[in-house]
Amino acid sequence: MAIAASAEFDVVVGGGGAAGLWIALRAAERGGAVCLVSRTPLSQSASFWAQGGLAAALEPGDSPAQHAADTIAAGRGLCRPSAVQVLVDEAPDAVRELRARGVAFDLDPSGELALGLEGGHTRRRIVHSGGSQTGSEITSKLAAMVAAEPRIEVRERTSATALWSDGKRCHGLLTKGGAITAAATVMATGGAAALWRRTTNPWGAIGAGSVFAAAAGADLADLEFCQFHPTALALPGTRFDGLLVTEAVRGEGAALLDASGRRFTDELAPRDAVTAAILDRLEADGTTAVKLDLRGLDPARFPNVLASLAEAGLDPGAEPAPVAPAAHYTMGGIAVDLDGRSSLPGLYAVGECSCTGLHGANRLASNSLSECFVFGDRAAAAALQESAAAEPPEPPEWRFEPPTEATRDAVWHLAGPRRRPEQLRELLADPYPFAAAIAAAALERHESRGGHLRTDLPNIDPALDGIHIVLGPDDQTRREQWR
Ligand SMILES: Cc1cc2nc3c(=O)[nH]c(=O)nc-3n(C[C@H](O)[C@H](O)[C@H](O)COP(=O)(O)OP(=O)(O)OC[C@H]3O[C@@H](n4cnc5c(N)ncnc54)[C@H](O)[C@@H]3O)c2cc1C
Repeated sequence: MAIAASAEFDVVVGGGGAAGLWIALRAAERGGAVCLVSRTPLSQSASFWAQGGLAAALEPGDSPAQHAADTIAAGRGLCRPSAVQVLVDEAPDAVRELRARGVAFDLDPSGELALGLEGGHTRRRIVHSGGSQTGSEITSKLAAMVAAEPRIEVRERTSATALWSDGKRCHGLLTKGGAITAAATVMATGGAAALWRRTTNPWGAIGAGSVFAAAAGADLADLEFCQFHPTALALPGTRFDGLLVTEAVRGEGAALLDASGRRFTDELAPRDAVTAAILDRLEADGTTAVKLDLRGLDPARFPNVLASLAEAGLDPGAEPAPVAPAAHYTMGGIAVDLDGRSSLPGLYAVGECSCTGLHGANRLASNSLSECFVFGDRAAAAALQESAAAEPPEPPEWRFEPPTEATRDAVWHLAGPRRRPEQLRELLADPYPFAAAIAAAALERHESRGGHLRTDLPNIDPALDGIHIVLGPDDQTRREQWR
């Protein structure tokens, strides 16, 4: 392990969700001095909200090869094969490791892991806790482990405002509580799905890590791909609008119904297909929501889903719930290799703010929590090999400016589930850099694929199979093939 000669820490981590907690813990357990900075308390993150669970090939009839085949099919010809291989091979061990550390996953009556089914999976392979409270179980246990680890200094309620970079190397993090130097800096700030007005995500999921990384000189990739979850509550004007109803309910038999009460799609197809079917149906029926029929589900399996619906004034036992697509997950982010290394020396990224190419154009359900653990562990090992610069340069002047409410409206209206080039061109002028970057990438991808649907180019172009749109620090896009 390198010694942080002039830096305060070996590793500084920005973000306290599953990815940030795990990389901090794994780096500290390997002997590193770690600082973990989180804007929110450790219990408030998208990870905490995760419902369905983690995907891993654990069933006797399942295999990593089958998990890989499902991931690649959902990713619509764009998954990076090496990243998929790493995930499917290492996810079962990640689940075993979490269990060994006391994370309580649900068990079946024979004491084996109870495995759920979600869209796009050909086998039951979703490990879950408390029915659909997986995120809170995992993050609360990890937060306690991090708090008990003497090598980790936690700075909660502290916002990062920039990376300390001279464009050639990253030297640490600038925060509202002062600068922190480190041999390796890790972005784990989560995704950007809350940039879309209609979202399932916590308000702070605004792509801050990607904005920092681009300003610091790193490449971003796959920004045109946002996953619109098919079943978010449609209760406009209420605080429950956009609330996620986990896909796991469809795995247990919940059905989607149109205005006349008929089923109209395969509820267990990958998310992009179910979302497209709903959008078609809304247009045909002239409605703003379809219905999700949860009658017949075992209430004990999804206690928190049913409790949330009751809080929203719905009685799913009596009547189907109104749902429609909402922005849920951003496949793109800071372009990294299989060890979380970005194109800027000294800067790493893990979790939803990173882009390994694993998810391709459409993430397979429940692969993202698994990704946090599998790639978080690898990045922890790699980050500890970094050596701090003898003399860091002057910190940059640049500071992060959060998006306005107008940007959230613009991103939803101009780069929503169905995109038109003239609207994307309008979004190019948005003052929030990530919004303009989404538009640039979406204009560059001349096709419809996965979470990126263009009304003018409705088909997949096979010439773009495996091609990633990379946005350099010069704001220029380029095409790369990742293996
Ligand atoms: C409702 C919901 C349900 C989901 N269910 C599942 C599921 O069942 N299975 C699955 O695999 N995935 C699920 N996902 C997706 C999954 O939860 C996320 O992809 C994953 O948790 C991302 O983890 P993360 O650690 O990268 O980011 P997050 O959990 O979002 O954590 C980001 C952290 O960064 C911090 N941060 C952000 N900006 C700053 C800043 N400027 N300075 C300092 N700190 C900052 C935040 O405070 C937070 O602590 C779900 C997502 C949602 C919203």
